[in-house]
Amino acid sequence: MKNDSGIIPISDATHVRSLPVPQSGPIRTEDGFWTDALGRPLRDLRISVTDHCNFRCRYCMPKEIFTSRYSFLPQTELLSFEEIMRLARIAVRHGVRKFRLTGGEPLLRKGIERLVADLLTLRTDEGKEPDVAITTNASILKKKLPALKEAGLKRVTVSLDAMDEAIFQSFNDVGFPAAKILEAIDAALEAGLKVKVNTVVKRGVNENEILKICERFRNTGVIPRFIEYMDVGSSNGWRMTDVVPSAEVVERIRSRYEVEPINPNYIGETATRWRYVDGAGEFGCISSVTRAFCRDCSRARISMEGRLYLCLFATEGYDLRTLLRGGATDFEIEEALGRIWSARENRYSELRALGLTPDRPKIEMSYIGG
Ligand code: SAM
Ligand code: SF4
Ligand code: SF4
Repeated sequence: MKNDSGIIPISDATHVRSLPVPQSGPIRTEDGFWTDALGRPLRDLRISVTDHCNFRCRYCMPKEIFTSRYSFLPQTELLSFEEIMRLARIAVRHGVRKFRLTGGEPLLRKGIERLVADLLTLRTDEGKEPDVAITTNASILKKKLPALKEAGLKRVTVSLDAMDEAIFQSFNDVGFPAAKILEAIDAALEAGLKVKVNTVVKRGVNENEILKICERFRNTGVIPRFIEYMDVGSSNGWRMTDVVPSAEVVERIRSRYEVEPINPNYIGETATRWRYVDGAGEFGCISSVTRAFCRDCSRARISMEGRLYLCLFATEGYDLRTLLRGGATDFEIEEALGRIWSARENRYSELRALGLTPDRPKIEMSYIGG
């Protein structure tokens, strides 16, 4: 609903609501780490650093809703890097090994390289540097590369839904050229970063781009990952008929190349991995719709204003910012996080497959991060 100034407030457009911290918990495993109600550890924290984006991908921030009058959050509402680091420090102490910076468009957050460098100073429970990655539309990646490299960034995931200019530009809906994204990917490779490419496949729109993307990235070290179009948020008009199942993606690729499945890198990896038998590299499929992977889901998400979400398809989050800004000690925050994680029962994709999903507005992808 619009307010008096005609602007849609973020709380309406993204359905942000807060839940109280559970009274009991945390549940711990024998080695002392938190575990959720379904026995899943917390390993992966996705941090959304901004709700702004310079693209208007139709499956994420459709122009009709995210108009020039849409009211994005003011800077003061965002978690500061110091606040993010306070949460990150607690998270690594409790088993988190991987951070992904996302958004909106994370590279639009001023000084993002400073956060990358700070996260890399942390040490995991295994005494190692955490895995820090960024998911980006890559529109300004080339410009930001020197600073990100200097900060120690080692990997980046670039979203690229099509090689064809007309199709790519209809995806981003702001006329941004695919050629510039490809240039940024090449620059990232030259800078020594590992690169993955995310491609959301939508029925009738970009199935014919799958083989072109494979062709472009074979023998480059870049790993394309084909993502089933998901019913995240409530604004993209998702229909099951728009989804291209990963099995079909693999069949298309198999029609040209000999491929075989390979083992996951770790338990809970979202993508199933495939390799070209001729040694030209690998690709992955993320099948959130047709092959739910909730059983091993060890991911939590923090929105740019400090709400913790336990699932990509959550309808509500937990307000950590009030704790952070209200004088809570590290111990109190730690207890709250542990209790929240211990009460987690989320398994939306499994429920979707059973036709049991709640009919409530979900959080938008651009708010929660991918
Ligand atoms: N702006 C950055 C980008 O596009 O890479 C990061 C944020 S974006 C929300 C993260 C990822 O979510 C992107 O790879 C995007 O393609 C994917 N995504 C967004 N909406 C989606 C949807 N409805 N289904 C599947 N993937 C989606
Ligand atoms: Fe922006 Fe990424 Fe969403 Fe596209 S998918 S609108 S680039 S946040
Ligand atoms: Fe994890 Fe939720 Fe996705 Fe299941 S639906 S894999 S619980 S984020």
